[in-house]
Amino acid sequence: MIKTGILGLRNVFGRGQVLSAAAARLQHSQAQPEGQHVPPARPETSSAKSLMDIGTRRIFNEDHDLFRESVRRFFLEEVIPNHKEWEKAGQVSREVWEKAGEQGLLGVMIPEQHGGIGGDLFSAAVTWEEQMYSNCSGPGFSLHSEIVMPYIVNYGSKEQIDRFIPDMMAGKCIGAIAMTEPGAGSDLQGVRTNAKKDGNDWILNGNKVFITNGWMADLVVVVAVTNREAKTAAHGISLFLVEDGMKGFHKGRKLEKIGLKAQDTAELFFEDVRLPASALLGGLNKGFYYLMNELPQERLLIADMAIASAEFMFEETRNYVMQRKAFGKTIAHLQTVQHKLAELKTEICVGRSFIDNCLQLHAEKRLDPSTASMGKYWASDLQNKVATQCLQLHGGWGYMWEYPIAKAFVDSVFSPSTEAPTRS
Ligand SMILES: Cc1cc2nc3c(=O)[nH]c(=O)nc-3n(C[C@H](O)[C@H](O)[C@H](O)COP(=O)(O)OP(=O)(O)OC[C@H]3O[C@@H](n4cnc5c(N)ncnc54)[C@H](O)[C@@H]3O)c2cc1C
Repeated sequence: MIKTGILGLRNVFGRGQVLSAAAARLQHSQAQPEGQHVPPARPETSSAKSLMDIGTRRIFNEDHDLFRESVRRFFLEEVIPNHKEWEKAGQVSREVWEKAGEQGLLGVMIPEQHGGIGGDLFSAAVTWEEQMYSNCSGPGFSLHSEIVMPYIVNYGSKEQIDRFIPDMMAGKCIGAIAMTEPGAGSDLQGVRTNAKKDGNDWILNGNKVFITNGWMADLVVVVAVTNREAKTAAHGISLFLVEDGMKGFHKGRKLEKIGLKAQDTAELFFEDVRLPASALLGGLNKGFYYLMNELPQERLLIADMAIASAEFMFEETRNYVMQRKAFGKTIAHLQTVQHKLAELKTEICVGRSFIDNCLQLHAEKRLDPSTASMGKYWASDLQNKVATQCLQLHGGWGYMWEYPIAKAFVDSVFSPSTEAPTRS
């Protein structure tokens, strides 16, 4: 199964209706006439050979497994061999975005009526989990697909959807979202970037910082104040679609980060950018409400990526201790090492169980913001703990950049410490 891609996913999900995979399987198993073949129960990761095995976890089915195989191959062939070069460049190539588009890895959940594939949440989860298993944080696919695209599909006009979604699906239009400013991070209501009416147009001024995909972005969802007199700041915020090349829109430097080296994180500047009325995304002064609405999915994907990263780090470390020799044997023979690995595996499997439950809830549109926050908090803290302890189990080699655990460690550090508690 080399290229499931768009066609493969269409076969899986393109029946006009997107069924939750788990619900579909439940219906299927309930409808089994007596004596007919019932597929064996899928193992959970705790009893699988590896935490990254294909064919595990009850939230997935065989169609997801086929898709996972093709996504795994994509990262193996198209991303891993180029990642070192991208780390030096501070960005990935345009080519990899377009290849991801061709393979159907972008905007997996975008409904068919908007030109998407209409895949389910579990298929989207496969794409971001596989990225973590590849230990390549460069491509900002999940932010583009599961954070930026939903704003356009959920709140955009038909014209906006028709104009941007097909190119975003194809990886020809890279999306970013610009909320944070030098003086407003956790406290999003403190943003100063503002848009003022000028006839039918808007004039946008301000600047943003730390914007993922910012350097490569063709389209940016920009958070701006549109009513300073509103009863609270949250009631005076709107979202705008700002395109690369618009007069007055400048990209600053690619920021030099301690991790996520191949991800282009940039500053963005808006100086009297004239935006047509059609650049307003959704209703006027409804921006903060939209941002809050989208939070559960954003939290969930960070949580699931954190657990997937922990699963990768565990397997990387298990392999390492099984070949590293000390005292005449591999260090995997030492009981303290075995205890440490057993503890880590237990915690990861407990976390996996909760996050799979969150994925199931979100697929049923029942994931509430607090449960999503718990998942994000717990999983990202665990990711950090696993990163630290797995690095230690590598000894001095863990501190060397050539060892995958070093990269996974610095990539992990971001999640909780720079977390915005009030906003997400
Ligand atoms: C690699 C990277 C990628 C990013 N990508 C994007 C992006 O694509 N788009 C975007 O808009 N932003 C992005 N950000 C910005 C990110 O969301 C912010 O850094 C985050 O919101 C925190 O804001 P801040 O950096 O201003 O920290 P501050 O708000 O100054 O927080 C500093 C510390 O104070 C703590 N703190 C703040 N408020 C409270 C409170 N009420 N109670 C207790 N503690 C508090 C924080 O937890 C933190 O530890 C990115 C950042 C990084 C590093």
